Amino acid sequence: MTKTRTISRNAPQGPSPFAVEAAPLPREKFSDPRITAKGEPRAQVPLARLETLWLNTGTLCNLACATCYIESSPTNDALVYLSADHAARFLAEAKGLETREIGFTGGEPFMNPDMLPMLTATLEQGFEALVLTNAMKPMRRHEEALLALRERHGDRLTLRVSLDHHSREVHEGERGPRSWMPAIEGLRWLSDHGFSIAVAGRLLPGEGEREARECYAALFEKEGLAIDARDPARLVLFPEMDADKDIAEITTACWGILGKSPADIMCNTSRMVVHRKGEAAPRVVACTLIPYDPGFDLGETLAEASCDVPLNHPHCARFCVLGGASCSA
Ligand code: SF4
Ligand code: SF4
Repeated sequence: MTKTRTISRNAPQGPSPFAVEAAPLPREKFSDPRITAKGEPRAQVPLARLETLWLNTGTLCNLACATCYIESSPTNDALVYLSADHAARFLAEAKGLETREIGFTGGEPFMNPDMLPMLTATLEQGFEALVLTNAMKPMRRHEEALLALRERHGDRLTLRVSLDHHSREVHEGERGPRSWMPAIEGLRWLSDHGFSIAVAGRLLPGEGEREARECYAALFEKEGLAIDARDPARLVLFPEMDADKDIAEITTACWGILGKSPADIMCNTSRMVVHRKGEAAPRVVACTLIPYDPGFDLGETLAEASCDVPLNHPHCARFCVLGGASCSA
């Protein structure tokens, strides 16, 4: 897709501190869903069950992070706001599939005018809800409604806040100036009010996971945040992503070689609903990471989208199989 990011005064000024260092991706890679550039059978992931359904609330965001995988910004509405009416159709279908969790991601979900009705419907229907947010002003506008939902539904509502790094300098290098304190204050508000919270962070090139968890633990203690940095579900650390940089393709033989299984991969248990600008209704895509590639658009309904997913994108290799990332709580 064409990049429509607008540089606002809050956008980061320099290159991302999380930039991937690798040669450019050769054009012949990830070009055929059935076979790799070397002619080997490409790995696929079946849908075992729909454990988590993600609703993409739209790409508009109050930030314009340097390497936002979905290219969100205050002006990019390539994915328009999902409406509560459209969401209701997918919630009803997910209910029939015994889906456990509904995830909300954006952009910044709390910018969507239907966010609270969608979140309320999700919890009222008995699903668990996981909301990915930057915990800044758009979320803070809804404090009263969030407190009421927490009161009624307790830990069935989890908010996962992006704090890209344990240092302010790196976080703001990625997310822009003046993005650190509002996120910390938002997290503190959630923590002080007893919400189920998690943090999503990232590792710098060469930074070890254990060392990063220790630094986050020290930060959480200093800021008085009730988050266990040693619990991988409460501090999720994501590997690097860059669709333009070279990476190995994943073949059917890779599962055995790497000691991994399709069951370890997100699209084995999840799907995402997106509403693209110019389309009359939302569609279902394989996962949260690839909203625009037509090869990962699986249909109009969850039933249609229950097919196998060929791992035909650099994110499949770098992020999911080799990086071992999982998105759910
Ligand atoms: S806050 Fe999230 S959605 Fe918004 S620009 Fe940053 S990474 Fe993208
Ligand atoms: S990037 Fe998406 S489609 Fe590819 S392996 Fe990961 S979850 Fe599956």
